[in-house]
Amino acid sequence: MKSPLVREAIIRLAVSEKYDSDPRVREIIRTLYHGCCAYCECKPEAGSSFEIEHFYIKKKGVYPEEYAKDIRNLHYSCKACNTKKSTNKADLFLSPNYRVDANGKWYDTPSSDIENSISYKDYLLVALNTDSGRGASTIAKLQLNDRPYLVESRIRSYSQVYKLLQATSEILGTYTRTQEDAPAKKKARIILFGLIKSYMSDDAEFSTMIIQNFGVQIEQLLKVWKKIK
Ligand SMILES: [Zn+2]
Repeated sequence: MKSPLVREAIIRLAVSEKYDSDPRVREIIRTLYHGCCAYCECKPEAGSSFEIEHFYIKKKGVYPEEYAKDIRNLHYSCKACNTKKSTNKADLFLSPNYRVDANGKWYDTPSSDIENSISYKDYLLVALNTDSGRGASTIAKLQLNDRPYLVESRIRSYSQVYKLLQATSEILGTYTRTQEDAPAKKKARIILFGLIKSYMSDDAEFSTMIIQNFGVQIEQLLKVWKKIK
């Protein structure tokens, strides 16, 4: 919670009447989540509109009232995820960010918590065995594998990166055999790696899926490239 943006949001929220009454706070939350939904990683601009989602719902009497304006509880979310999460209580979901422990203290969810509960198998999310069962209920409640727009977009990203990697492998494989057209190939490699990296960046839709499926292969290709360039 140290970033200047978070500090600014805390100050603004303290003087705001409601969590969503300051447009700058909304903008900060969007930036903190790199423009992607905290739950499904889609870009709300493309799939649906952006909303602020309360991890601990703001229904009266369920959680402390101050959570409604706590930056740790406010997530950037697509409308679909926010609607599907609805008034379900927080213990059914994996928090992409902060949680409250049994003593009422906030803590940053370690990324291993999420990685041990949920993973990608190709373009589908699978729940891993955990005691909490949150991975399975997050997938089921948010319908992360059942929404046509979401699955179609993931398939599209997946197959684009797959094709890019094939093209990159080919171009790296032929490099040492035909050196006369090296400048054109060098340019092609730079473009291909640039595209692949753009799919892995934080502000790309489904970057987790790309890294989990292709991360190792991309690393290996980058090593080969560095050796021959
Ligand atoms: Zn979403």
